[in-house]
Amino acid sequence: MSRELSHEIDELIQVFKAEVEQVQSQQQHRELKEKYFSRRRGICTLLMQRLRDVPPQKKAEAGRLINHFKQTVTQNLDQVSARLKTGREKTVDWTLPPVYRPIGAPHLIERTRTELEDIFIQMGYEVAEGPEMESEYNNFTALNIPAHHPARDEQDTFFIQGREDTVLRTHTSPVQIRYMKSKRPPFKAIFPGKVFRKDEPDATHTPVFHQIEGLLVDCGVNFSHLRGILETFIRAFFGSEIVTRFRPGYFPFTEPSAEIDISCFLCFGRDPECRICKGTGWLEILGSGMVHPKVLENCGIDPEVFSGFAFGMGVDRIAMLRHGVPDLRMFFENDLRFLRQFG
Ligand SMILES: [Zn+2]
Repeated sequence: MSRELSHEIDELIQVFKAEVEQVQSQQQHRELKEKYFSRRRGICTLLMQRLRDVPPQKKAEAGRLINHFKQTVTQNLDQVSARLKTGREKTVDWTLPPVYRPIGAPHLIERTRTELEDIFIQMGYEVAEGPEMESEYNNFTALNIPAHHPARDEQDTFFIQGREDTVLRTHTSPVQIRYMKSKRPPFKAIFPGKVFRKDEPDATHTPVFHQIEGLLVDCGVNFSHLRGILETFIRAFFGSEIVTRFRPGYFPFTEPSAEIDISCFLCFGRDPECRICKGTGWLEILGSGMVHPKVLENCGIDPEVFSGFAFGMGVDRIAMLRHGVPDLRMFFENDLRFLRQFG
């Protein structure tokens, strides 16, 4: 029996090896496994059943032979299974045309924000962010905006229902408050982010828009530092031929305050019909000033020792001016034909 069985198993192994070499798919693998290990008709199963009829003195030898066969089949099937899982390259047809996968691009607002940030980062400014839902104190009171100030009007500000002292921040300035409270001067940082105001959407207003504000506090900081930094920034962003104009302005949180215009980079003041500057030759782009001593005090910074300047600009407005976008709403309508022009 053993010799016969041994011979039979040798043949079975030959047959199996030929079969296993042909396996190219999971389906074929399943079928071959079934052929050898099916509970009722599997070749290995039948061999095991035959072991019952083998005389006791030959049982051990027969069992060894059958086990060897089972192991050979199992190992080979496992190897094929592993090859099928990892060897996908065997099924790649290199002559097929490539699959087209469209690549996305940053939105123009995001790109503009990054460009603006990069200029300040190169000048050593840190980038800091804060929550979009703010306390009324951080958004207004700490910034020297008194209770009766029109900016606090419910018509301008989103208040959070059921939390009367909480607002959607109307500017990124509360991040400056948080920053100043948590740091000791000297420091310089910029604060990019979304801000919210109750505006009816039109060509130049949306209820949510983007700002970048900046802040520098140190000993002996004066207005000429502010001017130097902002002129450097403007030339880096808009070009070296740009001329700046500082006009007196008013903000509750800075004193003195200045609004900054740049010469129109489209017509340089030569086109009375210019679509960007409307013939004035100037574009208003920044608000700025020396940080009000009360604001420093509110943040625990001694205004007798330290002084600083702050500035802010609208990212959406700058993107509109720079790329000649006529309507702010185009940024949010998600018309791919519009967005792809800047991708
Ligand atoms: Zn112009």
